Amino acid sequence: MSLTRRTFLRGTAVAGAACAVAGLAEAEERKEKTLPPKAVGLLFDSTLCVGCKACVSACREANNLHPEFNNGNNLWDAPLDLSANSLTVIKAYSEGSAKNKDQEEDGFAFVKKSCLHCVDPSCVSVCPVSAMTKDPVTGIVSYNPNNCIGCRYCVAACPFGVPRFEYNKTIARLRKCEMCKQRQVAGKIPACAEVCPTGATLFGSESALRAEAERRHKLTVGERTFFPRKTVDSTDTYEKRAPRYNAQTYGLKEVGGTQVCYLAGVPFAKLGLPSLPEKSFVSTSERIQHTLYKGMMAPALLFGSLLFAVRRNAKADEKEDE
Ligand code: SF4
Ligand code: SF4
Ligand code: SF4
Repeated sequence: MSLTRRTFLRGTAVAGAACAVAGLAEAEERKEKTLPPKAVGLLFDSTLCVGCKACVSACREANNLHPEFNNGNNLWDAPLDLSANSLTVIKAYSEGSAKNKDQEEDGFAFVKKSCLHCVDPSCVSVCPVSAMTKDPVTGIVSYNPNNCIGCRYCVAACPFGVPRFEYNKTIARLRKCEMCKQRQVAGKIPACAEVCPTGATLFGSESALRAEAERRHKLTVGERTFFPRKTVDSTDTYEKRAPRYNAQTYGLKEVGGTQVCYLAGVPFAKLGLPSLPEKSFVSTSERIQHTLYKGMMAPALLFGSLLFAVRRNAKADEKEDE
């Protein structure tokens, strides 16, 4: 009886596929995660942002980071993108003559980039040593450098390309926005919301922020409106005529929802916010993973494959002997 490499591989593939199909067919649905009870977040309203970048500077100060110079003269803090040294950046959309704010054609708009504090975060799911964790009460996604082994799975897994690695340091760590949790412990709000002059970046409980987003969707375009600044329940307001918003709030549904949500007047894709499925990637990947290992399915699959190949070859040998 001979077990050739080709026969083994073929047998493994067939038996493996059969086991996988059978297993997945009865896979248990992994429940979508929901917002924690006291979830906090940020609402970024692109139509209120004037591109002053006060939030970028305040974020640096709050997190002991230094300016980044990208225009050659070392005078102006001008980060091009998120980095281990820039946990938030302001980017601009511009089209044609760029005369009209928050309009797609011949328009321009600003967008603030940072961690979105996903409801069901991929970075947390893939981290093999729990260096990335989601607070069960506030939902803040945090990073623990003492646990981190530098595998950078979180960098690859994040659908928004957020975590950045300190490649230039000997003892390197990941960096990303942690919603100024150190300030929140001290009774302060995130620095970016604290300094925003127009309330474009607004802090608060996630439920209140979502209600505020809903209120803005119902405004009549051109109507005189007061927008809270710093926190969603603030009486300190910024006055402006209501803009024409996109129909949706970005972050309510994308990959299971995020605790940093966006309102805008130009399509979100133009602001670099990707079109993503409603189901979190984590719920699907963990479902498959748990199914394969449930009842030791993976080892059983391998054993079954081997058995199949051996029996097949034994039969072939018997025929040859006849
Ligand atoms: S501080 Fe506010 S208005 Fe200024 S760039 Fe940041 S989000 Fe925009
Ligand atoms: S945006 Fe990326 S880094 Fe932030 S919580 Fe979601 S998956 Fe993690
Ligand atoms: S919440 Fe704090 S760390 Fe996050 S972007 Fe705002 S200032 Fe930076």
